[in-house]
Amino acid sequence: MASDSSSDSSSEGSRAGLRRSPIPSRPEIHQIVLPTPWPIGPVQIYLIESEPLTLIDTGVRSPESRAVLEAALDELGHGFEDVRRVVLTHFHEDHLGQAQMLREHSPELEVWCHEDEREWCEDFSAMRNEWVEPTEALFRESGVPEDVLVRQSAERRRHAEEDPLCDPTRIDRTLRDGDRVPFKDLELGVIHAPGHTQGHLLLHDPDAGVLFTGDHLMGNAVPFTFYSYLLDESPEVDDLLARRPRFRGLPLYLASLRSLRRQKFRTILPAHGGILDRPDQVIQDAILFYEVRIQRIERGLAAAVEEFGRPVSAYDVWRRVFPKADPVSEMRTRLYMVLGALDWLADQGRVAIARDADGILVYTPFA
Ligand SMILES: [Zn+2]
Repeated sequence: MASDSSSDSSSEGSRAGLRRSPIPSRPEIHQIVLPTPWPIGPVQIYLIESEPLTLIDTGVRSPESRAVLEAALDELGHGFEDVRRVVLTHFHEDHLGQAQMLREHSPELEVWCHEDEREWCEDFSAMRNEWVEPTEALFRESGVPEDVLVRQSAERRRHAEEDPLCDPTRIDRTLRDGDRVPFKDLELGVIHAPGHTQGHLLLHDPDAGVLFTGDHLMGNAVPFTFYSYLLDESPEVDDLLARRPRFRGLPLYLASLRSLRRQKFRTILPAHGGILDRPDQVIQDAILFYEVRIQRIERGLAAAVEEFGRPVSAYDVWRRVFPKADPVSEMRTRLYMVLGALDWLADQGRVAIARDADGILVYTPFA
């Protein structure tokens, strides 16, 4: 999804990646652009220059990112030791990354995040390990063949052992939808926006019409939506298919976008892709992005059922919709999308779900 407004070119020679006061009516807000090693490009974090001095997100933990953050704070006359609070939009490494480093410089610093992300922030590496098993169980029930599962799980375990680009940190306060983040001169409202992660949150400055969106809405991409069985082992008692409790990112993401569409914002300050001054268009584009993919997945389901002459698994649909993708390295987020879309279609009464003799969940379109 393309940025629809001025990009982040106005740091005007700042070696610090600092974009000073981009919102004229709210000069306390500054954007800081920090490098990441990923194709998505740099991450944009925000400094609220009020009391307490607060960062929204922190960038990855790397020497390059740290140097740019230090230089940006320095340009504004601050040091790491002056930061008193970090509010995290979500736990991913380019957001959580440097929170613990900041705490080490500023012992009074508090880190706040949504209550569903606390464990991730406090024990990132252990959580990555713990999620291998529920993902394997989910993929097995989704019809992923055993040989692919074995390779996938080996890949996930290897990834879990890699040094993450973040340090875990203690969470001092957890937030929920409707909570407030108070400052001396302003107040931000917390909006829980699940989809990309379970506890993703947005921060809303109603007086300035500003919405900090993290990865929920971006200028250069639409986020993947997460789908997983939760760590709780037991099936849901009221689920006729005896599925484990699960997080259904795509339906939740679309519901969140639709509720945002009913509100009025003037500016979106995202974590990637500039500053967005047409919020309605950005929200609509993200909805459209997934509506088009849900249609493709619905057509893929019908074609796969026709081809095999039986109800088909999410994996069968994935292969049909993404025939060129590699099952090990390119399946995970796309299978999350297929699962989310099939759930969304089932919610709409357009798809029936059953369990076959092997315990695999299989889908049929309603004619
Ligand atoms: Zn993210």
